[in-house]
This record gives sequence, structure tokens and C-alpha cells, in this order.
Amino acid sequence: MGDCIFCKIVDKEIPSNVVYEDDRILCFHDLEPKAPVHVLIIPKKHIASMDDVAEEDQALLGYLMAKVKDIAAQLGLENGYRLVNNCGEDGFQTVQHLHFHLLGKRKLTWPPG
Ligand code: 5GP
Ligand code: ZN
Repeated sequence: MGDCIFCKIVDKEIPSNVVYEDDRILCFHDLEPKAPVHVLIIPKKHIASMDDVAEEDQALLGYLMAKVKDIAAQLGLENGYRLVNNCGEDGFQTVQHLHFHLLGKRKLTWPPG
């Protein structure tokens, strides 16, 4: 997608601090971390939001979800973590390329704001 910043990060047109990468997903540090560990896990395929997930994306998203525990382990989150998706206007989604925030290394409160 031409003007999508996360597609540009996937294509290495915009630099990022990569934590994990393979042919289907990318994980990189958030620019404005909200916890001592705050990374974003994204499918390389441009999917705008959870609302735009198609039937054909099931395997890709299942694959991404199954990688979360490996990335969490790589980041030393043995005491737990939070996986967050913000969807749409009310969910306060600011980047329109599906991404999951993985936050850890501090006690996270509930409910979120
Ligand atoms: P959202 O609000 O859409 O759930 O999350 C978007 C996240 O992307 C925010 O936490 C924001 O800090 C992060 N972000 C926005 N632009 C960039 C960027 O160019 N590089 C990186 N690494 N993170 C970004
Ligand atoms: Zn994109």
C-alpha cells in the first residue's frame, strides 16, 4: 500500500528496530513505547484493521498468534505481558495497517483507558 507507514517499514523504506522477522510477519519496537517493552507485531500483508480480516487471512493470523509466545520469550517477558489490538476510531487505531501491541516488563493496570 503506497502511503502506509507500516508497509514502508516492511519494505525497509522507513527504518525500524526489528525484533523478529520472517516471510510472513515482522516485529519491531514501537516509536513511542508505553512500557519498558513495547513492540508491534504485524503481518507483512497489508490488512487495514481487524475489521478487514478476510477468510483467506485465517492461516496468516493464526501463524502470527502462535509466534507471540516465542517473541515474548525472546524479549524476556516470562512474568507475563499484554497483547493489544486497537481497531477503528473508538479503539483509537492511528495506523491503518493491522498490528498487535505486545507490552511488558511492568505491571499493567486494568481496565485500559
Ligand atoms: P495504534 O494507535 O494504531 O494502535 O498504534 C500505532 C503505534 O504505532 C503507536 O504506538 C505508535 O507509537 C507507533 N508508530 C507510529 N509510527 C511509527 C513508526 O514510524 N515507527 C514505529 N516503530 N512505530 C510507529
Ligand atoms: Zn500497510
